[in-house]
Amino acid sequence: MRSKLVAGNWKMHGRRDMAADLLSALAPHLPSGVDVAVCVPFPYLDQAGAALVGSALHLGAQDVSECDDGAFTGEVSAGMLRDMGCRYVIVGHSERRARHGESSQCVADKAATALRNGLTPIVCVGETKEERLAGQTESVVSEQLAPVLALGAERVERLVIAYEPIWAIGTGLSATVDEADAVHSAIRGALGRVSQAAADRVQILYGGSVKPETAPALFAADDIDGGLIGGAALDPEAFLAICKAA
Ligand code: 13P
Repeated sequence: MRSKLVAGNWKMHGRRDMAADLLSALAPHLPSGVDVAVCVPFPYLDQAGAALVGSALHLGAQDVSECDDGAFTGEVSAGMLRDMGCRYVIVGHSERRARHGESSQCVADKAATALRNGLTPIVCVGETKEERLAGQTESVVSEQLAPVLALGAERVERLVIAYEPIWAIGTGLSATVDEADAVHSAIRGALGRVSQAAADRVQILYGGSVKPETAPALFAADDIDGGLIGGAALDPEAFLAICKAA
């Protein structure tokens, strides 16, 4: 039986004070029986890591270099993230694929580097509105996942995957349970072609305008193992309500 995971993606929001306030509002009130993580901007990871020592709230980052330490100006290595106390790292968020031209191969390389350094990558996939309207959702997601699944069973079994339809991100327009669950089942099927353990173990999160009102029905679906939460993760009351729904 897979546990549920709810991860907040703070994106490029906040300052030191907001990070401190949000962490102290969340950490003492986490519901039991669900894994909860916050993916914090790089400059506040050290502060967050220190604030979360001894807490059940896990720390994550929002990106990582595919390279190990070296002459890579402006990049952050997986070893550095481990040093900050991170357990998770988001790779391949659509905002990075779009703004920084990250290919699916690059995303798979980042996932591999994260795993090699003891981090759990949260690999994001998802289609644009045009691709959905053209009936290409499953083929787009399958192409995005192909280099990741090619990492092989032993590594794939340790991933988290997040299905985030681009048209649902920050728009207030969540995918319906049926729309999300259909893609999640297809992803589960693809994992099953890698190994039965991958299909059984990998948590597949849904992301895109998840709110306290929509979370319970989404998380009740068989193949939806929690959520990757953007805007609502900045509001401690809303984020805790979403965690409780998982
Ligand atoms: P919203 O919850 O703001 O739609 O963002 C989703 C997301 O991109 C999480 O990574």
